[in-house]
Amino acid sequence: MAGSGAAVAALVSGGSTPASAGTRPRKWDHDADVVVVGTGASGFPAAIVACEAGSSVLMVEVQPHIGGHGICSGGNIPLGGGNSMQKKYGIKDSPDLFFRDLTDWSVVEPNGFPDYRYNDREIVRAFADHSVATFEWLRAHGVVFVEKAPDTQGGTSVGNSVPRVSHAAVMDWPMVQTGKPADPSVRTTTSSGNGLIRPLEAAARKAGVRILLEHKMVSLYRDGPGRVIGIAAEHNGRTVNIRARKGVILGTGGSSSNVAFRRQFDVRLTEEYCGVAGQPWSDQDAGGELAAMALGASLWGGFNETGEFGFGITKPGSIGTRYGYVNLSWMPGSPVFDRVGATGLKVADWQDVILVNMLGNRFYDETGPQFTANNYDSIDPYIPDSYLNAKNVKYNPNNWINAALAGIGDTHNGGGPIWAVFDSDAVARENWDPRPPNVDVTGGFFFQADTLSALAAKIRMRFQRVPMNGRTLVDTVGRYNGFVDAGRDADFAKPGPKWKINKPPFYAAWSTPVVHDTRVGLRINAECQVIDLSGDIIDGLYACGETAGGFSMHGLPRALCQGYIAGKNI
Ligand SMILES: Cc1cc2nc3c(=O)[nH]c(=O)nc-3n(C[C@H](O)[C@H](O)[C@H](O)COP(=O)(O)OP(=O)(O)OC[C@H]3O[C@@H](n4cnc5c(N)ncnc54)[C@H](O)[C@@H]3O)c2cc1C
Repeated sequence: MAGSGAAVAALVSGGSTPASAGTRPRKWDHDADVVVVGTGASGFPAAIVACEAGSSVLMVEVQPHIGGHGICSGGNIPLGGGNSMQKKYGIKDSPDLFFRDLTDWSVVEPNGFPDYRYNDREIVRAFADHSVATFEWLRAHGVVFVEKAPDTQGGTSVGNSVPRVSHAAVMDWPMVQTGKPADPSVRTTTSSGNGLIRPLEAAARKAGVRILLEHKMVSLYRDGPGRVIGIAAEHNGRTVNIRARKGVILGTGGSSSNVAFRRQFDVRLTEEYCGVAGQPWSDQDAGGELAAMALGASLWGGFNETGEFGFGITKPGSIGTRYGYVNLSWMPGSPVFDRVGATGLKVADWQDVILVNMLGNRFYDETGPQFTANNYDSIDPYIPDSYLNAKNVKYNPNNWINAALAGIGDTHNGGGPIWAVFDSDAVARENWDPRPPNVDVTGGFFFQADTLSALAAKIRMRFQRVPMNGRTLVDTVGRYNGFVDAGRDADFAKPGPKWKINKPPFYAAWSTPVVHDTRVGLRINAECQVIDLSGDIIDGLYACGETAGGFSMHGLPRALCQGYIAGKNI
């Protein structure tokens, strides 16, 4: 174990050497009962609950700002099980129903992939049993929910039986996407992670939680083979040792941005998938997982990471920018806009572009969607645990993502850059302004030229390892224009291809798939204690949210609820 731990420790630090696990530092720089790593959706509930129960709590955050992906999120929160909002609108739910929904082996997507089959029953039971308490706790700690019946918007893999999604209202909090509050006319109706995390930050500070920004946890200290007793963090180039008298809670947000780590589960996810949803506000660099693995921690629920459902890998919603996740647009007022580079061009109709690979060849119907996910009423009629659910699903695979990730037929893994190619007529139809700050010309994510062959020649950027041949692009566009004339796409059956590409200037905009949430993570038990490869508890170490595995559900609910559970148990 020691040998593999050392290798993993080198990975986490990205080059520098973390303090070795199992040793005590010569001196502690900070001291608290509980150290929470990460100030996102799982970190804040963990910290506040522990603090209000009487522990001194220190939060450690690598970024210069709080919030993680939680603050960038849509604030759509399916914490069902019979919460006050469900009751108010006459929706009958219960922990048992929620549990049964989230462990139903028979639910499959139209491509045959199951949402819940590989869920760890112990972890899901703990979630189902604490879901209502977490929802009411959020309300009691300043989170205002949009006043309407729970629905299906924005939560995925949350069960088929009843609507469960409520929405955190943005209120008057400044938004990380724009740098300013939402328009007053929508303050109580717009769902936003800003309306979730900002009140929790205020509650944490009020309770006396201390927060250290720009402190990156690089390793964990353990008392010999015994308890976890603290962390080593990097701050301004030096190591800071932080003692945790009762234990450490990891809420570090998962591993989707760590290329080496994520490729363990999907070999295709190579470097070009560089605009992970929620970056650059925060990274999911597997820091929590790797530090715990250096102590022998086990990973859990690997299938859920590779299953072709939900938001693990998504189709971009905006093109011409590195950060094109469909539900997040960075505006010039955002505090991180200098790191974002461009807002991107939101695509209203994929009929307006063709999508080509690095060589300049089309690969799929451009209007094809990303993977689907189960939600209320997805299966109708739904009979829990019945063989009929899978039999009644109409087989209809959506392989846009798989085709985009397929590559160009050589020995490289990963699909390489995907480019949206279009002309000035498309710009007019979409009402785009293809200039900075809407598109990223300096980073190599957007190109323009007067001819198609000149456009192909201009596409030079770090992930375009094979130059695009101008002749290929001219032929691809010519063939596609022929399909528009014929009213039929003979290659990929795009429904009624609508528009020719023939009016200069021509454009190529980055349109490469976006990696999103992590569903593999550390093995935990019902108390959110981390478990090692022998099945034993690592005393004093807890994990929650995307850093914890075994639970196939998108995002906020499990992060918030597991934070709540970890905070209580520590
Ligand atoms: C654009 C977007 C929209 C979303 N919308 C929704 C939605 O509507 N509904 C939903 O259910 N889910 C949504 N999600 C997903 C949801 O936001 C995440 O699943 C959730 O925030 C995960 O919580 P977490 O605590 O695990 O991680 P995070 O909230 O990301 O917090 C992790 C924190 O840990 C910090 N950190 C990481 N490593 C270290 C380290 N080594 N040392 C110190 N600090 C570290 C990070 O900087 C970060 O601040 C969305 C995500 C995105 C990106």
